[in-house]
Amino acid sequence: MNKSHSHIDKIGWQFDNTYSKLPDNMFSKLGPIPVKAPKVVIFNHSLSSKIGLDFSNTSNEDLALIFSGNLLPKGSDTIAQAYAGHQFGHFTMLGDGRAIVVGEHISKNNKRFDIQFKGSGKTPYSRNGDGRAVLGPMLREYIISEAMHNLEIPTTRSLAVVKTGEAVMRETPLDGAILTRVASSHIRVGTFQYAVFSKDKSNLKTFFDYTIERHYPHIKNSKNPAIDLLKTVMEKQIQLITDWMRVGFIHGVMNTDNMAISGETIDYGPCAFMDTYDPKTVFSSIDHQGRYAYFNQPSIARWNLERFAESLIPLIDNNKDKAIEMATEIINSFAEKYKKSWFKMMHKKLGLLGENPKDENLILDLLSWMHQNKVDYTNTFCFLMNENIQVNKVYENQGFISWKRQWQERLKLHHNSPEKSLKLMRQANPLVIPRNYKVEEVLKKANNGDLDPFNDFLKVLEKPYEKQTKTNNYQFPAPSSEKKYQTFCGT
Ligand code: AMP
Ligand code: MG
Repeated sequence: MNKSHSHIDKIGWQFDNTYSKLPDNMFSKLGPIPVKAPKVVIFNHSLSSKIGLDFSNTSNEDLALIFSGNLLPKGSDTIAQAYAGHQFGHFTMLGDGRAIVVGEHISKNNKRFDIQFKGSGKTPYSRNGDGRAVLGPMLREYIISEAMHNLEIPTTRSLAVVKTGEAVMRETPLDGAILTRVASSHIRVGTFQYAVFSKDKSNLKTFFDYTIERHYPHIKNSKNPAIDLLKTVMEKQIQLITDWMRVGFIHGVMNTDNMAISGETIDYGPCAFMDTYDPKTVFSSIDHQGRYAYFNQPSIARWNLERFAESLIPLIDNNKDKAIEMATEIINSFAEKYKKSWFKMMHKKLGLLGENPKDENLILDLLSWMHQNKVDYTNTFCFLMNENIQVNKVYENQGFISWKRQWQERLKLHHNSPEKSLKLMRQANPLVIPRNYKVEEVLKKANNGDLDPFNDFLKVLEKPYEKQTKTNNYQFPAPSSEKKYQTFCGT
Protein backbone atom coordinates (compact mmCIF):
# COMPACT_ATOMS: atom_id res chain seq x y z
CA MET A 1 0.00 0.00 0.00
CA ASN A 2 1.53 3.32 -0.99
CA LYS A 3 1.62 6.43 1.16
CA SER A 4 -1.58 7.97 -0.17
CA HIS A 5 -3.46 4.88 1.00
CA SER A 6 -2.18 4.85 4.57
CA HIS A 7 -5.34 6.55 5.91
CA ILE A 8 -7.56 3.86 4.57
CA ASP A 9 -7.08 1.55 7.54
CA LYS A 10 -8.42 4.29 9.82
CA ILE A 11 -11.75 4.69 8.05
CA GLY A 12 -13.45 2.35 10.48
CA TRP A 13 -14.71 -0.49 8.31
CA GLN A 14 -15.85 -3.38 10.49
CA PHE A 15 -16.69 -6.18 8.14
CA ASP A 16 -18.41 -9.33 9.31
CA ASN A 17 -19.44 -11.15 6.18
CA THR A 18 -22.06 -13.80 6.76
CA TYR A 19 -23.87 -14.06 3.42
CA SER A 20 -20.79 -15.45 1.72
CA LYS A 21 -20.88 -18.37 4.19
CA LEU A 22 -24.29 -19.52 2.94
CA PRO A 23 -24.54 -22.55 0.60
CA ASP A 24 -22.53 -21.58 -2.44
CA ASN A 25 -25.34 -21.67 -4.99
CA MET A 26 -26.78 -18.58 -3.24
CA PHE A 27 -24.10 -16.27 -4.68
CA SER A 28 -21.03 -16.05 -6.87
CA LYS A 29 -17.70 -14.93 -5.52
CA LEU A 30 -16.30 -12.19 -7.68
CA GLY A 31 -15.20 -8.61 -7.41
CA PRO A 32 -16.12 -5.39 -9.13
CA ILE A 33 -14.43 -4.86 -12.46
CA PRO A 34 -11.95 -1.96 -12.12
CA VAL A 35 -12.78 1.22 -14.00
CA LYS A 36 -10.62 3.61 -15.95
CA ALA A 37 -10.73 6.98 -14.26
CA PRO A 38 -13.04 7.15 -11.23
CA LYS A 39 -14.14 10.53 -9.88
CA VAL A 40 -16.43 11.23 -6.95
CA VAL A 41 -19.61 13.04 -7.99
CA ILE A 42 -21.34 13.06 -4.63
CA PHE A 43 -20.59 11.61 -1.24
CA ASN A 44 -22.97 11.29 1.70
CA HIS A 45 -20.95 12.44 4.72
CA SER A 46 -23.86 12.35 7.12
CA LEU A 47 -24.67 8.72 6.25
CA SER A 48 -21.04 7.68 6.44
CA SER A 49 -20.63 9.07 9.94
CA LYS A 50 -23.96 7.60 10.97
CA ILE A 51 -22.69 4.13 10.16
CA GLY A 52 -19.37 4.76 11.89
CA LEU A 53 -17.10 5.52 8.94
CA ASP A 54 -14.65 8.40 8.96
CA PHE A 55 -13.47 9.69 5.62
CA SER A 56 -12.29 13.06 6.91
CA ASN A 57 -8.66 12.18 6.18
CA THR A 58 -9.36 10.51 2.88
CA SER A 59 -8.49 12.40 -0.28
CA ASN A 60 -11.00 12.65 -3.10
CA GLU A 61 -8.74 10.45 -5.19
CA ASP A 62 -8.86 7.70 -2.58
CA LEU A 63 -12.60 8.11 -2.13
CA ALA A 64 -12.97 7.60 -5.86
CA LEU A 65 -10.76 4.50 -5.77
CA ILE A 66 -12.72 3.03 -2.88
CA PHE A 67 -16.22 3.76 -4.18
CA SER A 68 -15.51 2.61 -7.71
CA GLY A 69 -14.33 -0.74 -6.37
CA ASN A 70 -10.80 -0.16 -7.70
CA LEU A 71 -9.43 -0.32 -4.16
CA LEU A 72 -11.31 -2.79 -1.99
CA PRO A 73 -11.41 -2.22 1.77
CA LYS A 74 -9.66 -4.72 3.99
CA GLY A 75 -12.08 -7.32 5.28
CA SER A 76 -14.41 -7.17 2.32
CA ASP A 77 -15.60 -10.39 0.71
CA THR A 78 -17.16 -9.45 -2.60
CA ILE A 79 -20.09 -11.41 -4.00
CA ALA A 80 -22.96 -11.15 -6.46
CA GLN A 81 -26.15 -12.54 -4.96
CA ALA A 82 -28.36 -15.03 -6.74
CA TYR A 83 -32.12 -14.58 -6.73
CA ALA A 84 -35.20 -15.18 -8.80
CA GLY A 85 -38.32 -13.15 -9.19
CA HIS A 86 -41.68 -12.61 -10.76
CA GLN A 87 -41.23 -9.75 -13.17
CA PHE A 88 -44.59 -8.34 -14.24
CA GLY A 89 -46.07 -11.65 -13.14
CA HIS A 90 -43.59 -13.93 -14.95
CA PHE A 91 -41.10 -16.06 -13.08
CA THR A 92 -37.42 -15.59 -14.02
CA MET A 93 -34.00 -16.52 -12.65
CA LEU A 94 -32.13 -13.28 -11.98
CA GLY A 95 -29.36 -12.29 -9.57
CA ASP A 96 -27.14 -9.25 -9.22
CA GLY A 97 -26.46 -8.57 -12.87
CA ARG A 98 -24.62 -5.36 -12.20
CA ALA A 99 -24.09 -5.21 -8.47
CA ILE A 100 -21.54 -6.51 -6.01
CA VAL A 101 -22.00 -6.72 -2.27
CA VAL A 102 -18.65 -5.59 -0.90
CA GLY A 103 -19.40 -6.88 2.57
CA GLU A 104 -21.47 -6.44 5.71
CA HIS A 105 -20.29 -3.50 7.76
CA ILE A 106 -21.16 -3.37 11.46
CA SER A 107 -21.80 0.15 12.76
CA LYS A 108 -20.88 1.35 16.23
CA ASN A 109 -24.36 0.65 17.52
CA ASN A 110 -24.05 -2.89 16.24
CA LYS A 111 -26.27 -2.56 13.18
CA ARG A 112 -25.40 -4.61 10.13
CA PHE A 113 -25.34 -2.96 6.70
CA ASP A 114 -24.73 -4.40 3.26
CA ILE A 115 -22.39 -2.15 1.33
CA GLN A 116 -23.20 -2.70 -2.32
CA PHE A 117 -21.82 -1.27 -5.55
CA LYS A 118 -24.38 -0.90 -8.31
CA GLY A 119 -22.98 -0.62 -11.83
CA SER A 120 -19.74 -2.45 -11.03
CA GLY A 121 -19.48 -4.68 -14.09
CA LYS A 122 -20.69 -7.99 -15.42
CA THR A 123 -21.45 -10.96 -13.19
CA PRO A 124 -22.64 -14.51 -13.93
CA TYR A 125 -26.19 -13.09 -13.65
CA SER A 126 -25.81 -10.29 -16.19
CA ARG A 127 -27.73 -12.09 -18.96
CA ASN A 128 -27.56 -9.67 -21.91
CA GLY A 129 -26.68 -6.63 -19.79
CA ASP A 130 -23.32 -4.87 -19.71
CA GLY A 131 -23.17 -4.80 -15.90
CA ARG A 132 -22.87 -1.04 -15.90
CA ALA A 133 -24.99 1.93 -14.83
CA VAL A 134 -25.29 5.50 -16.02
CA LEU A 135 -24.69 8.73 -14.12
CA GLY A 136 -28.18 10.27 -14.42
CA PRO A 137 -30.12 7.28 -13.05
CA MET A 138 -27.60 6.71 -10.23
CA LEU A 139 -27.96 10.34 -9.14
CA ARG A 140 -31.69 9.90 -9.43
CA GLU A 141 -31.56 6.90 -7.07
CA TYR A 142 -29.37 8.96 -4.74
CA ILE A 143 -31.73 11.92 -4.47
CA ILE A 144 -34.97 9.92 -4.30
CA SER A 145 -33.72 7.33 -1.81
CA GLU A 146 -32.36 10.08 0.43
CA ALA A 147 -35.65 11.96 0.10
CA MET A 148 -37.52 8.80 1.12
CA HIS A 149 -35.30 8.40 4.15
CA ASN A 150 -36.01 11.97 5.21
CA LEU A 151 -39.70 11.43 4.62
CA GLU A 152 -39.25 8.78 7.32
CA ILE A 153 -40.00 5.90 5.00
CA PRO A 154 -37.88 2.74 5.34
CA THR A 155 -35.43 2.59 2.45
CA THR A 156 -32.02 1.55 1.26
CA ARG A 157 -29.71 4.55 1.23
CA SER A 158 -27.07 6.04 -1.00
CA LEU A 159 -23.53 6.62 0.18
CA ALA A 160 -21.74 7.71 -2.96
CA VAL A 161 -21.92 8.17 -6.69
CA VAL A 162 -18.66 7.88 -8.60
CA LYS A 163 -18.18 8.49 -12.32
CA THR A 164 -16.19 5.69 -13.90
CA GLY A 165 -14.52 7.67 -16.67
CA GLU A 166 -15.90 5.12 -19.10
CA ALA A 167 -18.74 5.53 -21.54
CA VAL A 168 -21.73 3.23 -21.24
CA MET A 169 -23.66 2.48 -24.38
CA ARG A 170 -27.39 3.06 -24.14
CA GLU A 171 -29.24 4.70 -27.05
CA THR A 172 -26.19 6.98 -27.14
CA PRO A 173 -22.92 6.75 -25.20
CA LEU A 174 -23.41 8.08 -21.65
CA ASP A 175 -21.23 8.66 -18.59
CA GLY A 176 -20.81 5.46 -16.60
CA ALA A 177 -21.28 5.61 -12.83
CA ILE A 178 -21.36 3.43 -9.72
CA LEU A 179 -23.72 3.99 -6.82
CA THR A 180 -22.87 2.70 -3.35
CA ARG A 181 -26.04 1.42 -1.77
CA VAL A 182 -26.39 0.83 1.96
CA ALA A 183 -29.10 -1.59 3.00
CA SER A 184 -29.96 -3.58 6.08
CA SER A 185 -29.73 -6.52 3.66
CA HIS A 186 -30.53 -7.38 0.06
CA ILE A 187 -32.69 -10.38 0.96
CA ARG A 188 -35.78 -10.27 -1.23
CA VAL A 189 -38.93 -12.30 -1.72
CA GLY A 190 -37.13 -13.41 -4.89
CA THR A 191 -34.21 -14.78 -2.87
CA PHE A 192 -36.60 -17.18 -1.15
CA GLN A 193 -38.10 -18.09 -4.51
CA TYR A 194 -34.58 -18.88 -5.66
CA ALA A 195 -33.73 -20.95 -2.57
CA VAL A 196 -36.77 -23.16 -3.19
CA PHE A 197 -35.16 -24.27 -6.45
CA SER A 198 -31.90 -25.41 -4.83
CA LYS A 199 -30.98 -29.02 -5.58
CA ASP A 200 -30.10 -29.45 -1.94
CA LYS A 201 -33.45 -29.29 -0.20
CA SER A 202 -31.89 -28.19 3.09
CA ASN A 203 -30.80 -24.89 1.50
CA LEU A 204 -34.21 -23.31 1.93
CA LYS A 205 -34.18 -24.03 5.67
CA THR A 206 -30.58 -22.80 5.98
CA PHE A 207 -31.48 -19.56 4.20
CA PHE A 208 -34.64 -19.17 6.24
CA ASP A 209 -32.70 -19.56 9.52
CA TYR A 210 -30.15 -17.07 8.23
CA THR A 211 -32.83 -14.49 7.43
CA ILE A 212 -34.50 -14.87 10.82
CA GLU A 213 -31.20 -14.56 12.64
CA ARG A 214 -30.30 -11.47 10.62
CA HIS A 215 -33.59 -9.59 10.65
CA TYR A 216 -36.07 -10.99 13.10
CA PRO A 217 -34.21 -12.98 15.78
CA HIS A 218 -37.13 -12.58 18.18
CA ILE A 219 -39.16 -15.14 16.23
CA LYS A 220 -36.42 -17.75 16.25
CA ASN A 221 -37.96 -19.68 19.12
CA SER A 222 -41.59 -19.11 18.34
CA LYS A 223 -44.02 -21.98 17.84
CA ASN A 224 -44.02 -21.68 14.08
CA PRO A 225 -41.21 -19.38 12.89
CA ALA A 226 -42.18 -19.65 9.20
CA ILE A 227 -45.72 -18.45 9.95
CA ASP A 228 -44.32 -15.68 12.10
CA LEU A 229 -41.89 -14.58 9.41
CA LEU A 230 -44.75 -14.39 6.93
CA LYS A 231 -46.82 -12.34 9.38
CA THR A 232 -43.91 -10.04 10.20
CA VAL A 233 -42.96 -9.40 6.59
CA MET A 234 -46.61 -8.74 5.81
CA GLU A 235 -46.81 -6.16 8.59
CA LYS A 236 -43.62 -4.48 7.37
CA GLN A 237 -44.93 -4.33 3.82
CA ILE A 238 -48.29 -2.96 4.91
CA GLN A 239 -46.51 -0.19 6.78
CA LEU A 240 -44.26 0.49 3.81
CA ILE A 241 -47.01 0.64 1.20
CA THR A 242 -49.11 2.83 3.53
CA ASP A 243 -46.19 5.24 3.67
CA TRP A 244 -45.81 5.20 -0.11
CA MET A 245 -49.50 6.00 -0.49
CA ARG A 246 -49.20 8.77 2.09
CA VAL A 247 -46.63 10.72 0.07
CA GLY A 248 -47.81 9.67 -3.41
CA PHE A 249 -44.81 7.47 -4.16
CA ILE A 250 -45.14 5.06 -7.06
CA HIS A 251 -42.45 2.40 -7.02
CA GLY A 252 -43.03 1.45 -10.63
CA VAL A 253 -41.54 -2.04 -10.64
CA MET A 254 -42.84 -4.03 -7.69
CA ASN A 255 -41.50 -7.34 -8.96
CA THR A 256 -40.88 -9.94 -6.26
CA ASP A 257 -37.13 -9.43 -6.64
CA ASN A 258 -37.65 -5.80 -5.69
CA MET A 259 -39.48 -6.51 -2.42
CA ALA A 260 -37.09 -6.60 0.52
CA ILE A 261 -37.72 -8.84 3.52
CA SER A 262 -36.47 -6.01 5.74
CA GLY A 263 -39.39 -3.81 4.68
CA GLU A 264 -37.10 -1.21 3.10
CA THR A 265 -37.96 0.41 -0.21
CA ILE A 266 -35.50 -1.04 -2.70
CA ASP A 267 -34.71 -0.50 -6.36
CA TYR A 268 -35.19 3.04 -7.54
CA GLY A 269 -35.64 2.40 -11.24
CA PRO A 270 -38.80 3.82 -12.75
CA CYS A 271 -40.22 5.20 -9.50
CA ALA A 272 -41.74 8.69 -9.33
CA PHE A 273 -44.01 10.83 -7.21
CA MET A 274 -47.59 11.48 -8.19
CA ASP A 275 -48.41 15.15 -8.61
CA THR A 276 -52.02 15.49 -9.78
CA TYR A 277 -54.15 13.03 -7.85
CA ASP A 278 -55.13 10.14 -10.06
CA PRO A 279 -55.24 6.63 -8.62
CA LYS A 280 -54.36 5.14 -12.00
CA THR A 281 -51.10 7.07 -12.27
CA VAL A 282 -48.28 5.11 -13.91
CA PHE A 283 -44.98 6.65 -14.99
CA SER A 284 -43.06 3.60 -16.13
CA SER A 285 -42.73 3.39 -19.91
CA ILE A 286 -43.05 -0.40 -19.88
CA ASP A 287 -46.01 -0.75 -17.52
CA HIS A 288 -48.66 -0.79 -20.23
CA GLN A 289 -51.32 -2.56 -18.17
CA GLY A 290 -50.90 -0.32 -15.13
CA ARG A 291 -49.95 -3.34 -13.01
CA TYR A 292 -47.87 -1.10 -10.75
CA ALA A 293 -50.13 1.97 -10.80
CA TYR A 294 -50.51 4.05 -7.62
CA PHE A 295 -53.76 2.45 -6.46
CA ASN A 296 -52.62 -1.08 -7.36
CA GLN A 297 -49.65 -1.04 -5.01
CA PRO A 298 -51.44 -2.60 -2.02
CA SER A 299 -52.88 -5.47 -4.05
CA ILE A 300 -49.52 -6.08 -5.73
CA ALA A 301 -47.88 -6.20 -2.31
CA ARG A 302 -50.40 -8.85 -1.37
CA TRP A 303 -49.70 -10.75 -4.60
CA ASN A 304 -45.96 -10.68 -3.85
CA LEU A 305 -46.60 -11.87 -0.31
CA GLU A 306 -48.52 -14.82 -1.74
CA ARG A 307 -45.38 -15.73 -3.69
CA PHE A 308 -43.42 -15.39 -0.46
CA ALA A 309 -45.89 -17.62 1.36
CA GLU A 310 -45.60 -20.26 -1.37
CA SER A 311 -41.84 -20.35 -0.89
CA LEU A 312 -42.29 -20.92 2.83
CA ILE A 313 -44.81 -23.78 2.55
CA PRO A 314 -42.30 -26.60 3.20
CA LEU A 315 -41.21 -24.81 6.38
CA ILE A 316 -44.70 -24.14 7.72
CA ASP A 317 -45.86 -27.73 8.13
CA ASN A 318 -44.92 -31.19 6.87
CA ASN A 319 -48.51 -31.61 5.84
CA LYS A 320 -48.70 -29.50 2.67
CA ASP A 321 -52.46 -28.98 2.79
CA LYS A 322 -52.27 -27.81 6.36
CA ALA A 323 -49.37 -25.49 5.53
CA ILE A 324 -51.31 -23.97 2.63
CA GLU A 325 -54.34 -23.48 4.83
CA MET A 326 -52.30 -21.69 7.48
CA ALA A 327 -50.54 -19.46 4.96
CA THR A 328 -53.80 -18.66 3.18
CA GLU A 329 -55.39 -17.52 6.40
CA ILE A 330 -52.62 -14.98 6.88
CA ILE A 331 -52.67 -13.75 3.30
CA ASN A 332 -56.44 -13.39 3.52
CA SER A 333 -56.06 -11.00 6.42
CA PHE A 334 -54.02 -8.60 4.25
CA ALA A 335 -56.92 -6.56 2.90
CA GLU A 336 -58.42 -5.76 6.27
CA LYS A 337 -55.06 -5.03 7.88
CA TYR A 338 -54.02 -2.78 5.03
CA LYS A 339 -57.29 -0.91 5.10
CA LYS A 340 -56.90 -0.24 8.81
CA SER A 341 -53.37 1.01 8.29
CA TRP A 342 -54.37 3.22 5.35
CA PHE A 343 -57.31 4.59 7.28
CA LYS A 344 -55.14 5.49 10.24
CA MET A 345 -52.69 7.22 7.92
CA MET A 346 -55.45 9.22 6.20
CA HIS A 347 -56.76 10.26 9.61
CA LYS A 348 -53.35 11.73 10.34
CA LYS A 349 -53.17 13.47 6.99
CA LEU A 350 -56.46 15.14 7.84
CA GLY A 351 -55.68 15.74 11.50
CA LEU A 352 -58.60 13.63 12.71
CA LEU A 353 -58.69 12.11 16.17
CA GLY A 354 -60.68 9.00 17.00
CA GLU A 355 -62.99 7.30 14.55
CA ASN A 356 -66.41 8.21 13.25
CA PRO A 357 -68.81 6.32 11.00
CA LYS A 358 -68.72 9.08 8.39
CA ASP A 359 -64.91 9.26 8.21
CA GLU A 360 -64.57 6.92 5.31
CA ASN A 361 -66.87 9.02 3.14
CA LEU A 362 -65.15 12.20 4.22
CA ILE A 363 -61.77 10.82 3.12
CA LEU A 364 -63.03 9.29 -0.12
CA ASP A 365 -64.93 12.46 -1.01
CA LEU A 366 -61.76 14.53 -0.80
CA LEU A 367 -59.83 12.05 -2.94
CA SER A 368 -62.52 11.90 -5.59
CA TRP A 369 -62.79 15.69 -5.60
CA MET A 370 -59.01 15.90 -6.18
CA HIS A 371 -59.27 13.31 -8.92
CA GLN A 372 -62.19 14.96 -10.71
CA ASN A 373 -60.64 18.40 -10.55
CA LYS A 374 -57.09 17.24 -11.36
CA VAL A 375 -55.67 18.75 -8.21
CA ASP A 376 -52.17 18.38 -6.81
CA TYR A 377 -52.09 15.70 -4.08
CA THR A 378 -49.28 17.07 -1.89
CA ASN A 379 -50.37 20.67 -2.12
CA THR A 380 -53.98 19.96 -1.18
CA PHE A 381 -52.85 18.75 2.23
CA CYS A 382 -50.50 21.75 2.47
CA PHE A 383 -53.49 23.98 1.76
CA LEU A 384 -55.45 22.29 4.56
CA MET A 385 -52.53 23.01 6.90
CA ASN A 386 -52.80 26.71 5.93
CA GLU A 387 -49.58 26.49 4.00
CA ASN A 388 -50.75 28.81 1.28
CA ILE A 389 -48.05 28.00 -1.15
CA GLN A 390 -49.81 29.66 -4.05
CA VAL A 391 -53.09 31.31 -4.81
CA ASN A 392 -55.02 28.54 -6.42
CA LYS A 393 -58.54 29.17 -7.61
CA VAL A 394 -59.30 25.46 -7.45
CA TYR A 395 -59.75 25.71 -3.69
CA GLU A 396 -62.52 28.27 -4.22
CA ASN A 397 -64.50 25.55 -5.95
CA GLN A 398 -67.95 24.96 -4.35
CA GLY A 399 -67.36 21.22 -4.06
CA PHE A 400 -64.20 21.83 -2.09
CA ILE A 401 -65.71 24.53 0.12
CA SER A 402 -68.59 22.31 1.18
CA TRP A 403 -66.22 19.38 1.78
CA LYS A 404 -64.04 21.65 3.90
CA ARG A 405 -67.02 22.70 5.99
CA GLN A 406 -67.78 19.07 6.83
CA TRP A 407 -64.13 18.42 7.60
CA GLN A 408 -64.01 21.38 9.97
CA GLU A 409 -67.09 20.14 11.79
CA ARG A 410 -65.54 16.66 12.07
CA LEU A 411 -62.30 18.17 13.39
CA LYS A 412 -64.08 19.36 16.52
CA LEU A 413 -64.88 15.82 17.71
CA HIS A 414 -62.95 13.62 20.14
CA HIS A 415 -61.52 16.52 22.17
CA ASN A 416 -59.48 17.70 19.23
CA SER A 417 -58.03 21.18 19.04
CA PRO A 418 -56.52 23.14 16.14
CA GLU A 419 -53.09 22.63 17.70
CA LYS A 420 -53.53 18.89 18.05
CA SER A 421 -54.84 18.38 14.54
CA LEU A 422 -52.17 20.56 12.97
CA LYS A 423 -49.47 18.65 14.81
CA LEU A 424 -50.78 15.36 13.41
CA MET A 425 -51.05 16.76 9.91
CA ARG A 426 -47.55 18.21 9.99
CA GLN A 427 -46.10 14.79 10.75
CA ALA A 428 -47.95 13.12 7.89
CA ASN A 429 -47.92 15.73 5.13
CA PRO A 430 -44.63 16.74 3.54
CA LEU A 431 -44.31 20.32 2.33
CA VAL A 432 -41.93 19.19 -0.33
CA ILE A 433 -41.43 15.99 -2.33
CA PRO A 434 -39.00 15.26 -5.16
CA ARG A 435 -41.28 16.52 -7.91
CA ASN A 436 -40.51 14.87 -11.22
CA TYR A 437 -39.82 18.00 -13.25
CA LYS A 438 -37.57 19.38 -10.51
CA VAL A 439 -35.66 16.12 -10.30
CA GLU A 440 -35.19 16.20 -14.07
CA GLU A 441 -34.09 19.82 -13.96
CA VAL A 442 -31.33 19.22 -11.40
CA LEU A 443 -30.23 15.97 -13.04
CA LYS A 444 -29.82 17.71 -16.37
CA LYS A 445 -27.53 20.28 -14.80
CA ALA A 446 -25.65 17.58 -12.83
CA ASN A 447 -25.10 15.64 -16.04
CA ASN A 448 -23.45 18.75 -17.44
CA GLY A 449 -21.18 19.00 -14.42
CA ASP A 450 -23.13 21.55 -12.33
CA LEU A 451 -24.00 19.85 -9.02
CA ASP A 452 -25.16 23.01 -7.23
CA PRO A 453 -28.86 22.76 -8.11
CA PHE A 454 -28.79 19.04 -7.19
CA ASN A 455 -27.26 19.85 -3.80
CA ASP A 456 -29.68 22.73 -3.16
CA PHE A 457 -32.62 20.44 -3.80
CA LEU A 458 -31.12 17.70 -1.65
CA LYS A 459 -30.74 20.19 1.20
CA VAL A 460 -34.44 21.11 1.12
CA LEU A 461 -35.38 17.44 0.89
CA GLU A 462 -33.47 16.81 4.11
CA LYS A 463 -36.34 18.37 6.05
CA PRO A 464 -39.48 17.79 4.03
CA TYR A 465 -41.85 18.47 6.93
CA GLU A 466 -40.29 21.81 7.84
CA LYS A 467 -40.62 25.15 6.16
CA GLN A 468 -37.18 26.36 5.12
CA THR A 469 -36.21 29.49 3.25
CA LYS A 470 -35.93 27.65 -0.04
CA THR A 471 -38.82 25.21 0.42
CA ASN A 472 -41.10 27.37 -1.67
CA ASN A 473 -38.87 27.00 -4.74
CA TYR A 474 -39.80 23.33 -4.93
CA GLN A 475 -43.51 23.34 -4.11
CA PHE A 476 -45.11 24.37 -7.36
CA PRO A 477 -46.59 21.67 -9.54
CA ALA A 478 -45.04 21.20 -12.95
CA PRO A 479 -46.07 23.73 -15.55
CA SER A 480 -48.79 22.03 -17.57
CA SER A 481 -47.43 20.22 -20.56
CA GLU A 482 -48.77 18.02 -23.29
CA LYS A 483 -46.04 15.49 -22.70
CA LYS A 484 -46.67 12.85 -20.07
CA TYR A 485 -43.81 12.26 -17.62
CA GLN A 486 -42.21 8.88 -18.27
CA THR A 487 -39.65 6.84 -16.39
CA PHE A 488 -37.46 4.01 -17.63
CA CYS A 489 -36.05 0.74 -16.30
CA GLY A 490 -33.09 0.52 -18.66
CA THR A 491 -30.79 2.59 -16.55
P1 AMP B 1 -34.19 -4.27 -11.86
O1 AMP B 1 -35.21 -3.94 -12.89
O2 AMP B 1 -33.25 -3.15 -11.56
O3 AMP B 1 -34.76 -4.88 -10.64
O4 AMP B 1 -33.25 -5.36 -12.53
C1 AMP B 1 -33.68 -6.62 -12.92
C2 AMP B 1 -32.51 -7.51 -13.23
O5 AMP B 1 -31.77 -7.00 -14.33
C3 AMP B 1 -31.51 -7.64 -12.10
O6 AMP B 1 -31.05 -8.96 -12.13
C4 AMP B 1 -30.42 -6.68 -12.49
O7 AMP B 1 -29.19 -7.03 -11.91
C5 AMP B 1 -30.40 -6.85 -13.99
N1 AMP B 1 -29.83 -5.69 -14.71
C6 AMP B 1 -30.37 -4.45 -14.86
N2 AMP B 1 -29.57 -3.66 -15.59
C7 AMP B 1 -28.49 -4.41 -15.94
C8 AMP B 1 -27.30 -4.18 -16.70
N3 AMP B 1 -27.05 -3.01 -17.27
N4 AMP B 1 -26.42 -5.20 -16.82
C9 AMP B 1 -26.65 -6.40 -16.26
N5 AMP B 1 -27.75 -6.68 -15.55
C10 AMP B 1 -28.66 -5.71 -15.38
MG1 MG C 1 -33.99 -5.01 -8.83
